[in-house]
This record gives sequence, structure tokens and C-alpha cells, in this order.
Amino acid sequence: MATLDMDGPYQLTSTSVQQAVTQALPGTFAIGHRDKTGRFSVQYIGRDDANLAQALLQAVGRGVGQPGLFGRMLGGKQQANAFKFSYSNSPQAAYEKQCRSFHSFGETRSLENSDHPTPPPGSGLTCPVCGG
Ligand SMILES: [Zn+2]
Repeated sequence: MATLDMDGPYQLTSTSVQQAVTQALPGTFAIGHRDKTGRFSVQYIGRDDANLAQALLQAVGRGVGQPGLFGRMLGGKQQANAFKFSYSNSPQAAYEKQCRSFHSFGETRSLENSDHPTPPPGSGLTCPVCGG
């Protein structure tokens, strides 16, 4: 069974992000929703190479995990209401963790990520799972 190995879940609001993610460090995060039993379901896996909180706030601002009108009419998509996060020691560690989570949680078929994670600019890193 896939695990995120992240802290949380926390409520998905800008205030809650600012309260929970207090350090300007590289890291990864997951945006998703808690079902009736409290279980966290992942909808999106993100990362930042320098400041995790900033990337999370941008994702909240972009409405990641929020179905549009069409999605609500179809009734298929859950509305994101929670996030988890984890700090990383380096951009490389953050990238590798994002890749592992991306692959474990169903890639673009199940996640709202539109593409495979991209490596830190100029790093020349490749995905530890698929080599892509
Ligand atoms: Zn990969």
C-alpha cells in the first residue's frame, strides 16, 4: 500500500498552510480530501525546491483539487479540503520524493498532476522510479 510519509493532514486554507509550514525549505506536499472516515485521499502531489509553503499557497490560489462547474455537474470529483507536507534536505531529495509519490499514487491517471514531475532546473536529475 502506498504511503506518503508526510505530516498532516491539515485543513486546506492559506491560513492553515502558513501556520503549519513555517520553514522556508525544499519539500513535497499532497493536496487531497478527507472522506467521512477521516482517511486522506491524494489528488495532487507537488513540490518546491526552495520554499514549500510558497508552492502550497500558489496551488491553493490556483484552485488545485477544486472541481470546476463541469466537474461538479459530473459529480465524479471530490473537492480537496486537506493537505499533507514534508520538508526535504535538498531539492534533489524533494524531487525524488515527489517522483515516488507521483508513481505510487497513480500518476496522471489518478492524480490531478498533468505531467510527470520535472527535475530542479539545471540539475540533470532523472526520476528514480522510471528514469524519465
Ligand atoms: Zn518517473
